[in-house]
Amino acid sequence: MIDSVRLSQQLKTLQTITGPGKGINRLAFTDSDWQGRQYLCSLMEAAGLSIRTDAFGNVIGHYAGLDESLPAILIGSHGDSVPEGGNFDGIVGLLTAIETVHSMKEDHFIPDHPLEIVLFMCEESSRFGAATLGSRAMRGELSLAEIHQLHDAAHHSLFDILKARGLDPEHIESARYTRPLKACFEVHIEQGKVLEHKSLSVGIVTGIAAPTRLMVHLHGCADHSGATPMDLRHDGLCAASEIILAVEQTAKTACNPPVVGTVGRLDLSPNAMNVIPGEVQLGIDVRSISAKARATVIAGIRASISQITTARKIPYTIEEISSDQPAAMHPSVIQLLASLCEENQIPYDQLPSGAGHDIMHWADYAPCGMLFIPCRHGISHNPDEYADLEDITRAANILSQAVRRVSACSFHWVDPQ
Ligand SMILES: [Zn+2]
Repeated sequence: MIDSVRLSQQLKTLQTITGPGKGINRLAFTDSDWQGRQYLCSLMEAAGLSIRTDAFGNVIGHYAGLDESLPAILIGSHGDSVPEGGNFDGIVGLLTAIETVHSMKEDHFIPDHPLEIVLFMCEESSRFGAATLGSRAMRGELSLAEIHQLHDAAHHSLFDILKARGLDPEHIESARYTRPLKACFEVHIEQGKVLEHKSLSVGIVTGIAAPTRLMVHLHGCADHSGATPMDLRHDGLCAASEIILAVEQTAKTACNPPVVGTVGRLDLSPNAMNVIPGEVQLGIDVRSISAKARATVIAGIRASISQITTARKIPYTIEEISSDQPAAMHPSVIQLLASLCEENQIPYDQLPSGAGHDIMHWADYAPCGMLFIPCRHGISHNPDEYADLEDITRAANILSQAVRRVSACSFHWVDPQ
C-alpha cells in the first residue's frame, strides 16, 4: 500500500537539503544536489532497489522481476532544482516512483517484468543553459563535445564539474540506455493552473509540447518623428504590433490539439522618443503537442507577416531559430491511466504539457505515460510552489496500480489504430 506518511516525511527531509537562499536551491551537480542524490539513493535502497550509476551520474535503481529477460518498466524524474525553486518540482516524480516499489516490497508483490527507477541528473537548464541533460545522455543524445562546450555562470565547464564528481564524461556514450522497455512513466507537478481551475486531482498528459522559435527582422525606416507625415512612414514597430496580434489570433484558431503562440521578445532601434522605429526584431515562440497543428499555425503567421509588411512596404526576413519535436504520450497508456482514475473515482482530465520533461526523450523508445499533480495557483520554479499530499498520494496510487498491471507478462499494449 502507498504510505502517505512516508511520502510526507521524505518531502520534509528534502526540504532541508538545499543550498543558501530562499526556497530550494539544488542546482545540478552542486553540493546540495549531490546531497539530495545521496538521500534519494538511500530511499531507493530502503525500497529494495539495487543501484547503479552511469557516466553522467544518473542513478538507476533496479527491482528484479520474476523474469529478468523481459523488457523493464522505467519510472523516473529529476532531483535538481532551479535557483530559489520549490520542493515539489521533480522530486514528487522520484518519491512516487520509489514509493511504488517500496509498497511492492512490503506487499511481497513481485512483478513479472523488472522495474527501473531513474533519478535523471540535470533536468533544469538553470545552470548550463541546456535542459534534460541526464535523459539526453541516456538516449545517446549528449556528446563529449557538448559536455566540453557547456559552462555555468562561473565559467566552469560541465566536463570539469562531472570529473570533480568522480564521473566519466570521456565515456559518455556508455551512458546510453539499451534495455528494451515495456513502458515508461513520469509523475510531475503540473506547473500550470488548469487542474486547480477545474478542481481536479490528477491530470493525464497527452503529450509534451515543443517550441518552434522564429526571429522576425523588420527593416522599417527610422525617420524624424516630427518631420515625417503619417502617410510617408514605414514604421517597423507599427508593423510589429500588427504581427503580435496576428500571432495571438492565429494561435487561438487552433483548438484540437491547442497551439500557443507568444511574442515574448521585441527589440527596436533606435528606441528613441523622437525617432520612428526602423529596425525591429520580434521573437515568436509557437508550441503544441502536434507538429502538424504547430506547422499550420506557423504557416498562418508567415502569411500574416507577408500581408502586413506588404501593406506597409516594409522589407523583412524570418529566421527559424529552433524547432523541436513534440513528444506524444502513448494512447494505450493514456487509456490505462484514465481507466484507473475512473476505477478509483478520482476526477481527472487529459491535458498537454507546455513545459519540457525528461519523459519527452523516451516517447520514441517505449510507450510513455505521464501524470500531473495540481500545484497551488499554478506556481512553480518558486519558493511558494506547493502540492497537496493527498494529490501526491493519489498520483502515487494510480502510478502503482498502473505499474502493477503493466508488469504482468500477460499484459500487452494494444497498438493505436
Ligand atoms: Zn521538473
